[in-house]
Amino acid sequence: MEKMRAILKEKPGRGALLVEIPIPTELAPREVLVKVKRASICGSDLHIYQWNEWARERIKPPQVMGHEFTGEVVAVGSDVQLVEIGDVVVAETHIPCMKCYQCRTGKMHVCKDMKILGVDTDGAFADYIKVPESVLWKVDPSIPAEFASVMEPLGNAIHTATVAKLTGKSVLITGIGPIGAMAVAVTKAAGSAPVIAAEIKPYRIEMARRIGADYVINPLEEDLVERVLEITNGNGVDVFLEMSGNPSALHQGIEATTNGGTVSVLGVYNGKVELDINTIVFKALTVYGITGREMFKTWHVATQMLKYKQVDLSAVVTHVLDMEEWEKGMELMERGVCGKVVLKIND
Ligand SMILES: [Zn+2]
Ligand SMILES: [Zn+2]
Repeated sequence: MEKMRAILKEKPGRGALLVEIPIPTELAPREVLVKVKRASICGSDLHIYQWNEWARERIKPPQVMGHEFTGEVVAVGSDVQLVEIGDVVVAETHIPCMKCYQCRTGKMHVCKDMKILGVDTDGAFADYIKVPESVLWKVDPSIPAEFASVMEPLGNAIHTATVAKLTGKSVLITGIGPIGAMAVAVTKAAGSAPVIAAEIKPYRIEMARRIGADYVINPLEEDLVERVLEITNGNGVDVFLEMSGNPSALHQGIEATTNGGTVSVLGVYNGKVELDINTIVFKALTVYGITGREMFKTWHVATQMLKYKQVDLSAVVTHVLDMEEWEKGMELMERGVCGKVVLKIND
């Protein structure tokens, strides 16, 4: 049996291993084998590596890690219709069941019986990955592979931002990790102004500047609400995107949102967060909870934005490492001194 390289979470506990395992050759009628070109490391991959509480409950080793990738179709099952050998593809990581109420009514991204690539199945930190055709999305080969490999988190940014009208609107984004930084690029491309970023970590403050935020506020040094009101002539922002998972960012952001504005929450919080619903009522705010990406509306938008260079992700994709250097990537992420780390799996 032919072998391939794979970064394997081989047992519970901290760490993972670069090993050789058999290439998956058995394809079900609607499965596809993709040769992985680039794969990017997600926060959840770091959690699996570190073996935090979530990973301990969710992951069943041994399992190949990774879920954000781009590659080329090299083999297809007998009944595959959406892609062909040679296609350049990316993949939605939420695998919908295609049977439940949500899947049948155009809301596959909130499937009741969803599986997650690289969490419930073998992932993309390998020379080859086997996926159902239903998650694949063809991309224009002109899009740099490094950028294609981060289209999944870019999709999070697009989904979170585009539930609101953006053109000419003032936007506050709290939490400038890679997705927050991508949201800066997306809202700027959509014509939002001003785009205000709030972040406390020095590396990320710099990233917010480089990606083009009009203002960057460090809430540890300045009063976030006061500063936002000052910038917006006392009105507050039209659109607030919460991406930090920090309760005080959520509270301050809501305070800094103008009456009738939109609040879109992608951040995930440790435990319950108290919220003054009366504020939402009396300010007449529209609040969206965001999970995943719309399939495949968000992916289409991401493709167009990258193909026509509406967003430039070079300030976000800060490191491209050889697959062998994967552990260095985990270290960079642990130390918080990177944006997106992309692994070069194959040329
Ligand atoms: Zn991810
Ligand atoms: Zn479903």
